Amino acid sequence: MCITGYNRQQGIILKKLPYGDADEIITVLLKEEGLQRFFVTGSRKSKKRYQGLIDHFNHLCFYYTADTKGLLRLHKAESLGSAQSIPDRGLKWFCLAHYLTELISALTPEAARDHDLYPVWLDFEGRAADQDFGLDGVVFFVLKVLEKTGYGIDLHRCVNCNNRDLTGQVVFDSVKGGIKCGRCCQSGDGGVVGYDLKHLQSLANNGASGETQPRHSQVGNLLFLKQLVLFSENIVQKKSRAADFMLQVFGGH
Ligand SMILES: [Zn+2]
Repeated sequence: MCITGYNRQQGIILKKLPYGDADEIITVLLKEEGLQRFFVTGSRKSKKRYQGLIDHFNHLCFYYTADTKGLLRLHKAESLGSAQSIPDRGLKWFCLAHYLTELISALTPEAARDHDLYPVWLDFEGRAADQDFGLDGVVFFVLKVLEKTGYGIDLHRCVNCNNRDLTGQVVFDSVKGGIKCGRCCQSGDGGVVGYDLKHLQSLANNGASGETQPRHSQVGNLLFLKQLVLFSENIVQKKSRAADFMLQVFGGH
């Protein structure tokens, strides 16, 4: 169906913010335009108008216009069908999805068109449907979002001195966002060692370590994940409640 005068694009709703009694502002990851905010009139008052489609993580086709100030107004939304019907995604999926959403919104400038987070999100939904989705998957996707938003972590050289020899004891620098080599570690850094750098390097490459994980690398993953969270909190200067919840759910026994 063609509705003339409207821009039309598919995307995923990442966030909803109530506005007044009847309206809301939604943050959408559009396939081509990246992260955008839409003003949605009347969606909270009339369920009929959008048929309950305006909800977190729904895949929709959005019909919108931009006013002279650049504010985007949604006029119509259509379900895309297939992508919507991922069955019962579970608490882990939900927690991670919320954290990634927060990370994407915090680290992506409004109307940034130069990134490709959309395929990352599709990949995330695909892999998260897997029963065994664990801390490996979490670390992989947090690293991916950091990379795509311009805060990529280089796991192959020291963030401080560029030293490529990372064989000894290394720590994560949660301010600079990188690995510090043994030479650059200070005595006070001791608390964050314990993750397996080789495991993380192969994880960052392909999303899976390729071998069954020993128990200690799970603990290492959690330590590393906490460091990544700390780094992202340092960037935006704000504690993340979504991160706390995610760490509880994935770190719980
Ligand atoms: Zn160094």
